[in-house]
Amino acid sequence: MTEAMTERSHKDAEQRLLDDLRAEFPAFRIVSKRGDRLSRVIDRALRVLSLGGQTSYLTRYRTVIGDTLYVPDDWYRAPAVDRLICLRHERVHLRQRRRYGMLGMSFAYLFLPLPIGLAWCRARMEWEAYEETLRATAEHLGDDALSDPALKATMLERFVGPDYLWMWPFPGAIERWFDDAVTRIRATRSSG
Ligand SMILES: [Zn+2]
Repeated sequence: MTEAMTERSHKDAEQRLLDDLRAEFPAFRIVSKRGDRLSRVIDRALRVLSLGGQTSYLTRYRTVIGDTLYVPDDWYRAPAVDRLICLRHERVHLRQRRRYGMLGMSFAYLFLPLPIGLAWCRARMEWEAYEETLRATAEHLGDDALSDPALKATMLERFVGPDYLWMWPFPGAIERWFDDAVTRIRATRSSG
């Protein structure tokens, strides 16, 4: 396939996923972080809590809160496959919210057992969501994409670094999770 054809087919897949998401979560909407008050408040809090380590909440991160996905400016400029993979990740968080309730999920995600450094509940929820990220990556970019060392390094940094306030700062545990997740994904894909 040419690049344009690939982008076209990713766009179609993105549209189908958006339709599915809206069928499953009718209140789902996408809002720009720029000019959004709640996003600015969160950005400031994260800068303080991470001692300046997390300064790209408004410009790099996509964040789902309730039924709303808050996105940075580059959302619509990014390749469709990027949005597609992100929407798969966020769908997991929407389902977690339905499973645990808004209050239960927010409290556990933010505070248990600690808000910073040992956020086991946050790490658990992100493991589940990032496994879906990896699965979507394999489906749309091919199995080989999972072997890219940069992908593993990015995942590792997400969990052990300031991005999510050092949610589970144990590199060995994250590497094991990553390898196990890739094994699980490859096993289910090869079994059809
Ligand atoms: Zn997430």
